[in-house]
Amino acid sequence: MIRKSMQYYGYEAYEKSINNFGSASVFMAKENNQTFIIIAGNGNSDAALGFSCEERDNGIFRCELTHKNACVLRKIFPWTAPVRGLRKPVSIGLGDRLGIATAGHIDLFEKNDVFPVFAQQSIRELNLTNRTYEDVLDAVTFAVFREGYKKGFGADGDHLKTAKDVEYALSLGFTMITLDCSDHIKNNVNADSVSALPKKYIDKYLNKTFSIESVDLVFTEQELKQCAAIYTDAIAFAADIYNKFFASKKYEADFEISIDETISVTTPLQHFFTANELIDAGVSFATIAPRFCGEFQKGIDYIGDTIQFEKEITIHAAIARHFGYKLSIHSGSDKFSVFPVIGRVTQGQFHIKTAGTNWLEAMRVVAVTDPSLYREIHSYALTAFAEARKYYHVTTDLSKIPDIANVNDTELPALFENNDVRQLIHITYGLILNHKKNTAYVFKDRLYKLWRQNENLYRNALVKHIGRHLELLGVTNT
Ligand code: ZN
Repeated sequence: MIRKSMQYYGYEAYEKSINNFGSASVFMAKENNQTFIIIAGNGNSDAALGFSCEERDNGIFRCELTHKNACVLRKIFPWTAPVRGLRKPVSIGLGDRLGIATAGHIDLFEKNDVFPVFAQQSIRELNLTNRTYEDVLDAVTFAVFREGYKKGFGADGDHLKTAKDVEYALSLGFTMITLDCSDHIKNNVNADSVSALPKKYIDKYLNKTFSIESVDLVFTEQELKQCAAIYTDAIAFAADIYNKFFASKKYEADFEISIDETISVTTPLQHFFTANELIDAGVSFATIAPRFCGEFQKGIDYIGDTIQFEKEITIHAAIARHFGYKLSIHSGSDKFSVFPVIGRVTQGQFHIKTAGTNWLEAMRVVAVTDPSLYREIHSYALTAFAEARKYYHVTTDLSKIPDIANVNDTELPALFENNDVRQLIHITYGLILNHKKNTAYVFKDRLYKLWRQNENLYRNALVKHIGRHLELLGVTNT
């Protein structure tokens, strides 16, 4: 969709941003290539409505896009603030590391009933992009206001590992917390090292049959010991965070339990055990992210046995239905070969997270519009890859990446069909953005300028690329 602007109170206004508050007109406009919030036509005593701004001629106020002004915007126009939506049938996380993707996401999610989580970032991503949760949320609020999107969106404090981080996100109004329990999951413990099972586990589970839809789950002593050894601490950690922040209902936020960031696969028995123990501990949660079999690597299709995947996720989905929550699929971008299965076996009820693919689409725009800048970045990424690899699990083979000296400008965008190039560019994003010579950024400023100039190209690319995800997941437009 092409952005529309119009002349309004002498400003080049974003048409869809024009709203009234009392007698005032509040809208966004561009001036000298910068975007502002403008307040016009307000005759009352609190003429600036609480915004920090400068007064111009004729009682018009011009406000910069600061954190304080984002807070005012969320207060006077509540649809610019995040809401809870993780319990809706289909929800999707859209980690926008650059703070520029929401307009494109809006173009897509205006047309369907999927609940979008426009703000979603982990602490690792905050650190790698030098951003704060304030920035992440404010960028979304401004985009939502500018585009007049009023259907509601979520904000996810993603993969949080500490009470301090959970509190940070919640205090800013984030409406979803993904608790990463991986530091408390004991992958390496084997069942033999568990000498005695607690009596409560024996009474509840040992040799009992749990019938979940068409599947019978039976805990042998060996399997029960394994469940207890691996997950007991993680369950206690999740219950502790729940009691600290969610039990009192002080915050309007949904709770996701993430047990996916581990080496060993979550078996259906382990999933059942963890969920059942959490529920017995009084923990209410909207989603669980198990670690599925095969590999969900960043930015590329599923790697593994799709038949086995279907068999296991069918049971995982049944367990989730049994307890009344949804499965959450992490690193969900670009998993085109398994999307139809996910949509089908979950009966259209799931949460799926994407992040890096939005960055890859932004880099594809660079390859299309400024080949020489793309070449510079590509060469730098090759030198930075070893460092970036420390943070991500990928199986990238740099030798499969063509020497770009032999690739024509017009063929550069097609590099984004090559999985090894995708992962090279995907995981080096933090190093690319922060790369400096002396004190100046080498790429960051040029990149943002390019993305500003090619905004519609990026929007259309996101509509197409994320749209393809939704289509294969079985989501239809309304
Ligand atoms: Zn995860």
